Formats: sequence, C-alpha cells, structure tokens
Amino acid sequence: MNLPQQGDYIDIHSHGSKPADWIFTVENLMAHEGFLPGSVPGIAYSFGIHPWFLNESNHRELIKSVREIARNHQLIAIGEAGFDKLSGPSTELQRKTFEEQVLIAEEIRMPVVIHCVRAWDELLSVYKNLRPKMPWLIHGFRGNKVLAAQLLSKGMYLSFWFDFVLKPESSELLRSLPVDRIFLETDGADVDIRDIYKKVANDLNFSVEELKSIIYTNFNVFFALNLLKHD
Ligand SMILES: [Zn+2]
Repeated sequence: MNLPQQGDYIDIHSHGSKPADWIFTVENLMAHEGFLPGSVPGIAYSFGIHPWFLNESNHRELIKSVREIARNHQLIAIGEAGFDKLSGPSTELQRKTFEEQVLIAEEIRMPVVIHCVRAWDELLSVYKNLRPKMPWLIHGFRGNKVLAAQLLSKGMYLSFWFDFVLKPESSELLRSLPVDRIFLETDGADVDIRDIYKKVANDLNFSVEELKSIIYTNFNVFFALNLLKHD
C-alpha cells in the first residue's frame, strides 16, 4: 500500500485525485461507481457506500462489493459512509447500511470515513450501540464547538469542509480543537490542499512544515492498527 512520506501535504479525503509531487491523497471510491483501488504513487484508497447513492434495490450488491474490496491492499479505510438527512433513502436503510460497513471495518481493523449531514443523533446512537474499536473520521466537518467536542469525546477525528476551513470564521473553532485530532481535505473540489494548509497553519500559529508534521503524525496514529496488520 502507498503511505505518505514525511513532508507531504496529506489530503485525507478526495475524489478524482491525480498524483502530484509532495501531495499524498486518500482517494474515496464509492461502491456504486464500480471502480477498484489502483496502484498509483501518492494515493491510497477508502471504499464505501455513500448514502446519496444507496437504495433498497442496490443495497445488497453494494455491501457485497465493500466486503470484497475491503481486503484490497491499497485500501486503508472504509467509507465515506454514513447519514444524510437531505438526500438518499430512509434513515432506516441508511442506518442499516452504515452499521454493516462499521462491522466490516471492525472485522478487518480499518478506520471509517464518515459523511454525516444533519444526522448527528443517529451517528452517535450507532456509535453507542456498536462501540467500535476502530477510529472514525468525520469528513467535511463544519459544525460548532459543542458538536466538535461531543465527537472528539468519542475519540473521533475531524476533517473540515474546504469551503468552511478557508473562511476567516473557522479560525476560532480550529484554535479550540486538539491538534492531534484534525485532518485536512479537498473533497475533490477545485481547491489546492496547499492553500488549506497555509490558512490553517496561520490560524494555529504553526509553520506549514510544522502543520504537515502534526498531520503526518495524526495519520500514523489514526491508521496504526490497520497498518500493523500488514507487518
Ligand atoms: Zn467526499
């Protein structure tokens, strides 16, 4: 599997990534698209069922593909998976499908990358019921300090929505969070990960090199159990 080098800009969640010098990307593949993880320098993969593209008739087939691809050597996480109150099928089907993916992740000891829109109670309820041992990463986070604190208290990690994190208003939230639980991402949008690092480094009073080093450490901790498995 590909892993970041010290000094890389780590983009923890993207779509349609292309290899670039000094950028390490976790490319998210959605099960309904039918693409397999490849072997591309500087890119590792997550694979999961995005709630937008889930329905009663494709559910079984999509879960089957997650189960199959979960053991692919370029895969380092399950997801993005989760809940979306604004799009996708019933909350019941979203919940069932999310729980199934969490259990697959637990079985193969992989972290989960989470998409969650206006369904924090559901997400926390699944957490409470399943008590996962593998860490969860909330991608595209743009909530407030109270929500952030609640998620952090469950051991979760936060990666911020690019549009939110680039705005001056996000600085205060960023400064209130423990730096050992954050990641940065482009989500495949037309935005440069280096600009996001620059903005966040500035907010936190770090140099970009220091921030890269912090996120590199976070990466190694977040994926630790999964990586040990391959030793
Ligand atoms: Zn995404």
